[in-house]
Amino acid sequence: MHISDEQLLKVNDEIQRLINSDSFYGKKYREAGITGVRTEEDFLRLPFSEKQDLRDAYPLGLMTAPEDEIVRIHSSSGTTGRPVIIPYTAKDVDDWGEQFRRCYEFAGITKSDRIQITPGYGLWTAGIGFQNGAEKLGALVVPMGPGNTEKQLSMMIDLETTVLCATSSYALLLAEEIEKRGIRDQIHLRKGVFGSERWGEKMRARIKNELGIQIYDIYGLTEIYGPGIGISCDYDCGMHYWDDFIYLEIVDPVTLEPVKDGEWGEIVISTLVKEGAPLIRYRTHDLSRIIPGECECGSKFPRIDSIMGRSDDMMKIKGVNVFPKQIEEVLQTFTELSSEYQIHISHLDGRDTMRIYVEADGRADFLRTAELIAAKVKSRIGFTPIVKVVETGVLPRSEKKTKRVIDERYD
Ligand code: ZN
Repeated sequence: MHISDEQLLKVNDEIQRLINSDSFYGKKYREAGITGVRTEEDFLRLPFSEKQDLRDAYPLGLMTAPEDEIVRIHSSSGTTGRPVIIPYTAKDVDDWGEQFRRCYEFAGITKSDRIQITPGYGLWTAGIGFQNGAEKLGALVVPMGPGNTEKQLSMMIDLETTVLCATSSYALLLAEEIEKRGIRDQIHLRKGVFGSERWGEKMRARIKNELGIQIYDIYGLTEIYGPGIGISCDYDCGMHYWDDFIYLEIVDPVTLEPVKDGEWGEIVISTLVKEGAPLIRYRTHDLSRIIPGECECGSKFPRIDSIMGRSDDMMKIKGVNVFPKQIEEVLQTFTELSSEYQIHISHLDGRDTMRIYVEADGRADFLRTAELIAAKVKSRIGFTPIVKVVETGVLPRSEKKTKRVIDERYD
């Protein structure tokens, strides 16, 4: 997707903001002699931004607007190293809310809806992002935050919630709980807006069927506003993103060269109008592709495919690059399995091994199924894993993100 003249002008404005400030990137750009962009060639010469830069800028080094104009910070959790802090001006907060409002509209959600928000509130961008957009839309918000399934369900019933916002893992947990308690007829949900993790068709189908709702995938990351910079539509073919707020490129994660529309690669995002902490060519490490052509819904907003994984999730096993998604796609062809699985990679006697745990109930022949999966995985990725089928419900469920790949080689 080529950058438009309008987007170039906006990127140029962002660069002016940066170099006129004392911020981390302002200094970096001045040192590199970057003064602006006029053409796509200029743009493609700009350096990439990395998560590590953001950590180096801790605590407020990214702040590009005067402090008087900063109204809020958000932070992405750092499991390793320093956290990342993103400052927002009032306009940034408003722009984010506007993008999120657009997401709800794309999902056919209106001000007559009652929206139950289960992602967490606080330093991170999840709960409050869902909330800002919903308030801008004029819907009634039930700001639950995560956990306490008992209370989630009673509020859902008593308040007749029509929209559930959640991570897909938590939506699945709630769906299973509703099924188990036989309270489906007391639930008024009609739509679900789920995000923040990659999830398979099978999990989607289960949530959709068990809750009887239409579901939408939301995209976003704390570094660039938060969730709400894109969402899937009724045609369920990728996610539209808001190209008036961001410019999105897909690059080869190894060579960092742009790939053609339709080819898979890493998402790189430039903000177009952000004041508090503009980011230019930020490497998200999310893998996707531009979906060429226009969507059947008629929207002119461009689309990316659902996230295939993270470029840093790529597992190198016996010298072969493997993505969790490839394994997942094989597993999805086995209808007797649940949506849950776990992949363990370890190093044994000088060799890499992969163990895959999947779930089935008593109607499946566990040994035979394991053999068939192993054979199919081998034909897909070139080597044979050890497959173990366990009882449905044995693998861990999570209220946040479910960890599916456990690499024991570096422990
Ligand atoms: Zn569409």
